[in-house]
Amino acid sequence: MPMFFDTSPPGQCIFCRLVAGEIPSARVYEDALTIAFMDIGQVNPGHVLVATKRHAATLLDITADEAAAVMQTAQRVARAVQAVFNPPGLTLLQANGREGDQTVFHFHLHVVPRHAGDGIALSWPRKDPAAEVLQGYAQRLRAALAAG
Ligand SMILES: [Zn+2]
Repeated sequence: MPMFFDTSPPGQCIFCRLVAGEIPSARVYEDALTIAFMDIGQVNPGHVLVATKRHAATLLDITADEAAAVMQTAQRVARAVQAVFNPPGLTLLQANGREGDQTVFHFHLHVVPRHAGDGIALSWPRKDPAAEVLQGYAQRLRAALAAG
């Protein structure tokens, strides 16, 4: 993971400055709510970031309309990435919070073309809880969803 962290406030963070055209970027697409541009790190050729134009730190801070727009832009970009780079795989990655591996605290989604042996790894330590524990988690989430 990169060691770069940007926790600047709204209007001053690197992505707000990019949206405003105050810093250069290799733009791919934009619409009313979203902007897509090349990730400067290019984990694989064709690695694109889709961000909200409005400053919002995480998934929990964007509106439902922004969430829908981000996924629609990601799909459009993914189709273009597929057409241009023809990767055998493609991963979407969206990180929230420092512990969630977010490094720029302005909502964004990675569209990453994937290849065998490309060095990207996601540790996935399964815990496999008992069925009743799983049902307990689900019951608590259903209650939270029902509460609005
Ligand atoms: Zn921002």
